[in-house]
Amino acid sequence: MTAVHQHQQMALAVALVQHRAKISIIHAGTGVARPLLRSLYHELHGEAPRGGPLATSLAGILKTRTQHASASLFAALYTDLGAGARYDAVDWQALVHAYAMYRALSPRGSEPLDINQAWAVAIDFKVGRVTLAHCEACQVPYLVVAHAVFGPTCPLCALYARAG
Ligand SMILES: [Zn+2]
Repeated sequence: MTAVHQHQQMALAVALVQHRAKISIIHAGTGVARPLLRSLYHELHGEAPRGGPLATSLAGILKTRTQHASASLFAALYTDLGAGARYDAVDWQALVHAYAMYRALSPRGSEPLDINQAWAVAIDFKVGRVTLAHCEACQVPYLVVAHAVFGPTCPLCALYARAG
């Protein structure tokens, strides 16, 4: 590993810690040692990182159309910033940048994904469990999620229909 690469991985790790990603995810993405990540986390947040299992598929995370709309926004930003359309790996830089943009764009009172759930979106792209579709009615991209509790239709149209 070159010094420049090492520096880039550490910068990425710090960004992920700032967003409160789980230590195992940061370690997988950066190769930075877990004890160092844990002390970074403690330094930045004044508390120990939370453990617990990882949610590794979106179908298990998304319970409502509001969450579906929220995940679709993140997915659109992630794929926009990502290196290519094939997603044979998680694009970590795109993940961090898309997540920061996503949080800035998320309206107050919405149910935004946390960074660990955003990572699950990236994983689902990688293994082909999600695709982006385009809604002809409202002209937005939305996620089609395999085995989701709702159908492969636009979340915004579903929410509009309910509101009307
Ligand atoms: Zn729509």
